[in-house]
This record gives sequence, C-alpha cells and structure tokens, in this order.
Amino acid sequence: MKKITRFLVRKIPRPLLIRFSSVFSILVRPFYAGNNVECPICGHHFRKFLPYGNDGAINRLCPSCLSLERHRLIWLYLRDHSDFFTKNYKVLHFAPEQPFIKRFRKMKNLDYTTADLVSPIADLHIDIMNIPIEDNSYDIVFCNHVLEHVENDITAMKEVYRVLKPEGWAIMQVPINYTYNKTHEDLSITDPKERERVFGQYDHVRWHGLDYPERLKKAGFKVEEFDIKKYISPELVEVYRLDKREILYISRKM
Ligand SMILES: [Zn+2]
Repeated sequence: MKKITRFLVRKIPRPLLIRFSSVFSILVRPFYAGNNVECPICGHHFRKFLPYGNDGAINRLCPSCLSLERHRLIWLYLRDHSDFFTKNYKVLHFAPEQPFIKRFRKMKNLDYTTADLVSPIADLHIDIMNIPIEDNSYDIVFCNHVLEHVENDITAMKEVYRVLKPEGWAIMQVPINYTYNKTHEDLSITDPKERERVFGQYDHVRWHGLDYPERLKKAGFKVEEFDIKKYISPELVEVYRLDKREILYISRKM
C-alpha cells in the first residue's frame, strides 16, 4: 500500500489529484487510520500524512483535505492569531489553495474573490504584475507560492501593496532556499530542465533566499515575522507536521 500511495501521489498530476480528492481520500484513509498526526484545517487524525514532492518525502500531505505544512501553518495563524474568522473582510486570493477555497467561500464574514492567471475555477483571470483593480480595494490579499513563478516579484508585491487598503495585510509565502543569503534569479534560463536544476522546479524563475523579507520591505510593506514555534510546543509542531524552518511573513500596508 505504501508503494502504491507513493506512486499515486508522485505520478498523478496535482490538478487530477485535487479533482478526484474525495475518491482518493476515501480509498486511502483506512490505511492511514491513527492518532499520531492531526490536520488543524479539516480536523482529522491519522497514523501519518501522505508522502509528497519529487523526492517522495514522507508524512506531508493530509489524506483528507490535501493540506501541506505551509497550509497548516497559515491556517493556525489565521485561526489563533488574527480576527480573520470573525471580522468582515474583503479578500483577494491569488492561486487559491485547495484546502482553503471551499472553507473561505463559506465564511459569511468574508467578501471573497479568487484570482489566477489561467485556472478556470478562479473568479478573475488577471496578471499579478498588472492587477486591473483600483487602489485601496482589499483588506487582505493571499498570494502563496506565486512569486517564484513571475517575471518580476517586486513589481507583483508592489501591485499587491497598491490594491490593499491602508492597514490591509497580505500573506505571500514562497519556497525559501535556506542556504542562500540572497535571492537568486535568472530570467535568461528558460529550459524547464535547467530551471528545475537551478531553481528547484521546472516553472520557477528564482530561488528566494533569506533576504525574502527585505524584498517585501522594498515593495513598501512593514513585515512582521510570525514564528509558530514561539506559541505552540515542539510536540504540537510534530503533531501538525509543520516545517520548523518556515516563518510566516505578515506584510502590512501602513
Ligand atoms: Zn486536512
């Protein structure tokens, strides 16, 4: 079963996995019954999470809602450290993540709009580097794992800043290469194989480094660093299977 699951998770394209997630989840869940890990998003417990990624790294993907470490971290921040679930907010969500879409859509306190350059399920088909929306329009913008794909990430950040209302905030997580002090980008690399070798994925155009928050500041944001390890026990970090290195950057328009 282990081999079959790993094979399925690695070989089936994620959009297909998402599309058939309920069937997939029903098939897989009995083999993962247990109480070692818990997904704070869907609330289910498992013996462990599913493997995920090119290297088939174990214990990452929630068999029920398909959340990964980064989704669980964002959820915990929103749930326990913000008023996202209670206050009325106008929200713009770029490249909306599967574990969040249905849940955010159902929330009565949100005026919620999704956006994507290509995805047919998004409400708006727009380019984040040139957002056709007036200044000061949204309270919150989410834009996770997008800025490593776009031609100019600072331009995109500035656009997010522009459409946010004063005192609005954004979460714009990216994969970070913790061995790089400075972001490495090279738009002249266009070959998918070469991009995968240099930037870690066939459609990435940069590896953000430890200077990532500085780039957000360059775009005008005041950046707060949220480290979940300051608020929950190491045991709970393991139960939720979070990435201990990941810092959540809350970017505020002041
Ligand atoms: Zn889940």
